[in-house]
Amino acid sequence: MQYSHIFGPVHSRRLGRSLGIDLVPFKTCSYNCVYCECGRTTVETMERQEFFPVNEVLDELREYFSRSPKLDFITFSGSGEPTLSSSIGDVIRFLKSSYPSYLIAVLTNGSLLLRPDVREDILPADVILPTISSVFDETYRKIHRPAPGVSAMDIVEGLECLRSEYSGEIWLEVFIIPGINTSVEELDGLRAAIERICPDRVQLNTLDRPGAERWVKPASPAQLEEIGRILGLSGVEAVEPVRYELSAGSTMPGQWSDDVARVHELIRRRPCTLEDICASTGLSRREILKMLRKIQSGSRIEEKREERGIFYFCPEQDHTRV
Ligand code: SF4
Repeated sequence: MQYSHIFGPVHSRRLGRSLGIDLVPFKTCSYNCVYCECGRTTVETMERQEFFPVNEVLDELREYFSRSPKLDFITFSGSGEPTLSSSIGDVIRFLKSSYPSYLIAVLTNGSLLLRPDVREDILPADVILPTISSVFDETYRKIHRPAPGVSAMDIVEGLECLRSEYSGEIWLEVFIIPGINTSVEELDGLRAAIERICPDRVQLNTLDRPGAERWVKPASPAQLEEIGRILGLSGVEAVEPVRYELSAGSTMPGQWSDDVARVHELIRRRPCTLEDICASTGLSRREILKMLRKIQSGSRIEEKREERGIFYFCPEQDHTRV
């Protein structure tokens, strides 16, 4: 079966071996973050919709789980904001009732969490991973370029509401861009917000792959450590650098009928180094290079050298950065 709504499993930095579920069309989001690894947002909206018939998604999941795959998480993520999908609640409930042994995570930018229907939809998840970057509107808008009608404090208030209703874990991502949200005032504001939200974990994150805009630079490990110290919260941790735990051949044979399509799908969703693709697929570098050449014969692949190595991606991701 050719999958359209599920992808991976990928080796996620925070969630280990993770099957992705993408319920929104490519780059449909309530934000247009300057650091987005999927490139610039093409459809910016705060309107929830059923973007795809939910049965299409459920059929893919039934087929995929018929093989009893080994996963650390099933993760709602992808190339846009997953809570924009009005199907997310149905899909989570289906997974919880049909495959209760799997853990479910939701990656969200938090922009819709003031809405009770959105919170209700994601309450059955085991872990929710929202993002904040600033409590000041000017900085918040500079980083996320949100759709009209959402403010920095809406995010904090939405997360407070979620905390009061949700018994699962909240792992709060604080995204750091040096020189943008790293002043004493910014960090004081973030510390106060974190105290209000009471997350189970706080994870500092920074640019790891090419972002949507060229001026965005990553924070160094030493900077992140210092910011963690300034935030002064117990349990603050930096998102670990990418780990490569899977060795060649460790994927389940026959899990994907077409490895070339799988590699194509990975780089279509986000820029990847050869090591990223090895980690997600278990294929060797040689095999992957051959596959990249094969993909290149039918569609465009671009390369970009960054600190972590050469990233391969499909230009529809709009990495024509300024
Ligand atoms: S980083 Fe996430 S929230 Fe920001 S634009 Fe990309 S998909 Fe949307």
